[in-house]
Amino acid sequence: MNEQLNRIVSTQPSNVLDIRFWPTDICDYDCTYCFPDSHPGIHRYPKNIDTVINNFRTLFDVYTKKFNKTEFWLCLVGGGEPTLWPHFNTFCREIKKEHNVRLKVTTNASRTLRWWDQNVEYLDRATLSAHHEFIDIDHFMKVGDFLYECDLNIGALMLMDCEHWDKCVAIVEKMKTSKQPWIIEAKSIVQFPGKDINSYTQEQIDYVANTIKRVPDPKYILKHIDDFNVFQSVALFNDGTATTMKSEDYIHNKWNYFNDWTCHVPIENLVIVYDGTVTGSCNANIFKDAKINIFSETFKEEFEEKSFDLKPIKCPFKVCNCLPDTHITKYIS
Ligand code: SF4
Ligand code: SF4
Repeated sequence: MNEQLNRIVSTQPSNVLDIRFWPTDICDYDCTYCFPDSHPGIHRYPKNIDTVINNFRTLFDVYTKKFNKTEFWLCLVGGGEPTLWPHFNTFCREIKKEHNVRLKVTTNASRTLRWWDQNVEYLDRATLSAHHEFIDIDHFMKVGDFLYECDLNIGALMLMDCEHWDKCVAIVEKMKTSKQPWIIEAKSIVQFPGKDINSYTQEQIDYVANTIKRVPDPKYILKHIDDFNVFQSVALFNDGTATTMKSEDYIHNKWNYFNDWTCHVPIENLVIVYDGTVTGSCNANIFKDAKINIFSETFKEEFEEKSFDLKPIKCPFKVCNCLPDTHITKYIS
C-alpha cells in the first residue's frame, strides 16, 4: 500500500505557520522513554527576553512577506517542561500584541493552580500530557478542571507505554472521573529510542487506533470547534483515490517513509529548540548550514538574508516519526 501513496496535503490553512518552541531544557520529570538530550538542563536561559520577542516578530514579518502567513500557531512544548521557563509569562503576554498568534502549551501540568491562574489568560489551548512514572493524578485532574472552568480549550494526552500498559489504562480510567469532562486522548510512544509501533501488541494498537477516550460536551466542542481538527491531512494515491488522515494514521499504517520526497516543512512547520536554533520541525536543515538563532542579537540581519531561499526540501531522513510532521504537505517528486 505504501508505494501507492504519492502525495499528502496538510489541512493546516495556507496562511498559518506552525512553530513548536522548546523554551527550556529543564524538566521536573525524568521519564524513561523521553528522547535523549531533550532535558539535559545545561542551557542557560537567554536573559535578553526583549530581543527574543523582537526576533520572533521579525520571523513573523518575514514569513508574512514571503509566504503570506498571517496567523502563527505557537506551541510552547518540551523536552524540558515549558512552564518552568522563567520568561513564560512575559513572553506569552507580549508575543500576541503585534501579530495574530495563537498560543498553545504542552505541559506535564505539574505547576501549582496559583501558577496556572497567573498565566491562563494568555493561552488559547493547553494539552496536559500524562506520564505514568511521575504523574500526581489528583493534582493533574485539578489543573484540568481549573483550565476547563476558565474556558480554555484543554485536553489530556495519556502517553501509553507498552511496557506498563495496565497502569496507563488505569490512569485513563481515573481521569474519566474528573469533575469536568475535558477531552482525554491516548497515544502510543513512537518517536523515542527503543520504542516504535512494532513494540506494541495488536490489542494495544487497536486501543490507540481510536485515540479519543472521552469527548467533552457538545456545547464545549462547538465553542472551540476550530481546534478540533480531527483530520490533519488528506492522502492521495496513484489510482486517483484520496482519504482523510488523522493523528497516528501514517505511523500505524507504516506509511511514514518519505526519503527524497519533496516536503513543505520550511513553509509549514518550524521548531525552535532551547539553544535558540531555528530548524525544520523534524530538525531538517532548511537554512543550508547557516546557524539561525532566535536568541541572537544579530538574528534580524541573518534571518532576512538567509530566509530568502526558503523553499520545499528533499526529505533527508529514512523515516518521519513525529506525528505532526507526517501530516506536512509532501509528494513524490
Ligand atoms: S515530562 Fe516530557 S520532557 Fe519531561 S521527562 Fe517526561 S517526556 Fe521528557
Ligand atoms: S522527516 Fe522532515 S523532511 Fe522528511 S517528510 Fe518528515 S517533516 Fe518532511
